[in-house]
Amino acid sequence: MQWRSRPVVPISDTHGFTSAAHFAKEDTDLRFPGILRQAHTRDRDGMIRTDWTREEIAELFDLPFTELLFRAATVHREHHRPDEVQLCTLLSIKTGGCPEDCGYCSQSAHADSGVEATKLMDVRQVLQSAAQAKDAGSQRFCMGAAWRNPKDRDMPKIVEIVKGVRDMGMETCMTLGMLTPAQAEQLAEAGLDYYNHNVDTGPEYYDRVITTRKYEDRLTTLENVRQAGINVCSGGIVGMGETREDRVGFVHTLATLERHPESVPVNALVPVKGTPLGDMLADTPMAKIDDIEFVRTVAAARIAMPMSMVRLSAGRESMSDATQALCFMAGANSIFTGEKLLTAPNAGDDSDAALFARLGLKAMEGEEPLRAASGRAVGGCSGGCATKEAQAELT
Ligand code: SF4
Repeated sequence: MQWRSRPVVPISDTHGFTSAAHFAKEDTDLRFPGILRQAHTRDRDGMIRTDWTREEIAELFDLPFTELLFRAATVHREHHRPDEVQLCTLLSIKTGGCPEDCGYCSQSAHADSGVEATKLMDVRQVLQSAAQAKDAGSQRFCMGAAWRNPKDRDMPKIVEIVKGVRDMGMETCMTLGMLTPAQAEQLAEAGLDYYNHNVDTGPEYYDRVITTRKYEDRLTTLENVRQAGINVCSGGIVGMGETREDRVGFVHTLATLERHPESVPVNALVPVKGTPLGDMLADTPMAKIDDIEFVRTVAAARIAMPMSMVRLSAGRESMSDATQALCFMAGANSIFTGEKLLTAPNAGDDSDAALFARLGLKAMEGEEPLRAASGRAVGGCSGGCATKEAQAELT
C-alpha cells in the first residue's frame, strides 16, 4: 500500500488549538464526494445556516462514525474551546403532579412512579440552593417546575426568584411549561436569561410520547420566548423507541428554527418504572440508546448548530467515561453538575471532577458564543434539560 505524503502544516484556530481539519478536508472530500456540502455550516454570506434539509441531516447521521466525529470535532473547535465544558446546576422548584402525560416523565400525574407532588418552593429556599450552587462553582442556575404552564398567580413568585438569583450574580434558566407571550415578557423583564422548552423528539414521533399537547404548541412557546428576547434552550431525548429518522427530524427541527437555540440538551432515556415508556422499554433491548448512535446524535447536532451549547443531560450518569469522552469530542460542551437532576440521579461532582481530570477538561468561564454574538449580557441555561428519569421533566 502506498501512502500519499503531503506537507503537514498545523493551523491554529481562533482559540489557539491546532486543527488538522483544514488540511485534511481536501482528502476527506475525495473519499466522500457526495457529502461535501455537509461540512458547510455557513451560507454564502458567512451566516450560520438554518436551511438544512432533512436529507442533509440524515446524511450526517449516515457518515462513517469516525468521519462524522472528525467533522463534528472540527466544527466544534472553530466555534468553541475544545477543552472547556460549561457547568450548570438544576433544581426542581415544584415537583410532581403535572397534568401532562409525557411518557418518559416521573413527574406526570399519569405515571405511577412514586414521585410526590409538592408546592412551589419558597423564594428563600430557592435562593439558598442557588447560593450553594454558586459556592460549588456553577455559573448558571436552572430551575424546573412540573407544570403544563404557569398560572398567572404563580408569576410574581417566579419573578422574585429570577431577580433574586440574578442579584447573586448567577445566570438564570427556567423551565415552567408552555408560556403565553405576556408571561414570556414578564420573565424577560425580570431578567431571565434562558428558557428551556424541549421539542423532545421528531415531529412524526411526538404523539407516541405525549398526547396532551402538540408539537406545534412547543414551537409556539419557543417563538414566544424568542420574541420576548430570552435565550432559548431546547433539545430532546433519544432512546424512547424512536427511529433514526425521528432523531433526524429532532435535529432538523432545531437546526431550521429561525435562530438556533443557544443551548441544545441531548438526553438519553433511562426508563423509569411506572412511566409508560419506562414500563414499555425497561426490559427490551431498545430501552437503552446505543452509545455510538447517541454520539452520532450529539455530532449531528453540533454540525447543524455550530455555535450552540450542546448539553449532555439525562442519562449521563450511566454512560462510561469513554462514551462521555466521545460526546465531548463530538461537540458536547455543557453538563449538569450535582447529585440530582430534578428527581433523577446525576453523575455527581466528585465523579465529574475525576472525569475532567482524566480528560484534561476544565469548567467554562467565559460567555457562550451565541449569547456573546447576540450582545446580551449574562446568559443562561439549558435548564430543563432533563435527566434521565426526569429527562423529561423538563418541559
Ligand atoms: S416533562 Fe414536564 S410537562 Fe411533561 S409531565 Fe414531566 S413535568 Fe409535566
